[in-house]
Amino acid sequence: SASLRAKLISGGYTSISSLFSVSHSDIARDLKISENEALEILRVASQRRGSERSNGTSSIVNGAQSAWEMLNEEKSLGRITTSCSELDDILGGGISCREVTEIGGVPGIGKTQLGIQLAVNVQIPMDYGGLQGKAVYIDTEGSFMVERALQIAEACLEDMREYHGFLKRDLQACQVNMQPKDFLENIFYFRVCSYTEQIAVVNYLEKFISEHKDVKVVIIDSITFHFRQDFDDMALRTRLLGGMALKLMKLAKKYTLAVILLNQVTTKYTDGQYQLTLALGDSWSHACTNRVILYWNGNERYAYIDKSPSVRSAAAAYSITGRGIRS
Ligand code: ADP
Repeated sequence: SASLRAKLISGGYTSISSLFSVSHSDIARDLKISENEALEILRVASQRRGSERSNGTSSIVNGAQSAWEMLNEEKSLGRITTSCSELDDILGGGISCREVTEIGGVPGIGKTQLGIQLAVNVQIPMDYGGLQGKAVYIDTEGSFMVERALQIAEACLEDMREYHGFLKRDLQACQVNMQPKDFLENIFYFRVCSYTEQIAVVNYLEKFISEHKDVKVVIIDSITFHFRQDFDDMALRTRLLGGMALKLMKLAKKYTLAVILLNQVTTKYTDGQYQLTLALGDSWSHACTNRVILYWNGNERYAYIDKSPSVRSAAAAYSITGRGIRS
């Protein structure tokens, strides 16, 4: 019915596929409807899936999904722009949703700046090619600057207005009616002061995001800080970090959102010399789907894709301006 449809959409269930991985009791709780109504919704959704299958528009057979359908789904996901077109290009269009991306580099290279930029950019309306989502920012180091987020949001709005003028679209239909304060309201900020708090917040995220399905990016700045400060037992540290990474990966898949883990660097002694490498050791490097390393080359900042299942390794220069990350 129209009213259930409206409830589903406002609850963040905007496609048939968004109903695949939830139980009827989740839906009943989220939409505040009876379990019978939720069961009916799932019945209709699976019928739709069945008829799409027989029309040839879907190829899910006995629970398996075809690679073709996966490709189409992936294309429809959208990406979060970094505001640096060269970096977006080497990333295949921006930061991908449904995946965990680790971004590491030396202090001052711009990890937090990029984190704040992504928290703003995830909110760009769909009319402007964005995801129109919200952000969760988990700050372990106290480095998030709200004035800086405001500056970046103001610049983002200016760019959208400029683009709007350029397109000369119908002013009523596509006016940018967001204000800088809206961008700040859409960033949910958690400050964590110990590794136990960090684990607790990551455990709580599932509940928080199930109630805020428009969250499309989770940024942890940084994943490393408390785990490098407070730990002697390395085996326990590896286990805790592994568990946290697994939870974040599941969250990214279930809610189609991007998880960004900012990481520090450390020096490693190999082949007779010290080399910079991302912190937390080799076992951690398997925890993230994508890995981007930020580094200096002379006076220029560069981002290098060190690991990705879908794009080749490549480097792109970026800069940090008063307006945020730019080419
Ligand atoms: P990291 O998190 O990697 O330690 P940051 O993201 O905090 O580093 O980046 C800090 C750098 O960002 C500063 O050294 C400065 O060069 C740059 N920066 C910060 N704010 C501005 C601004 N308003 N205008 C230009 N550059 C800025």
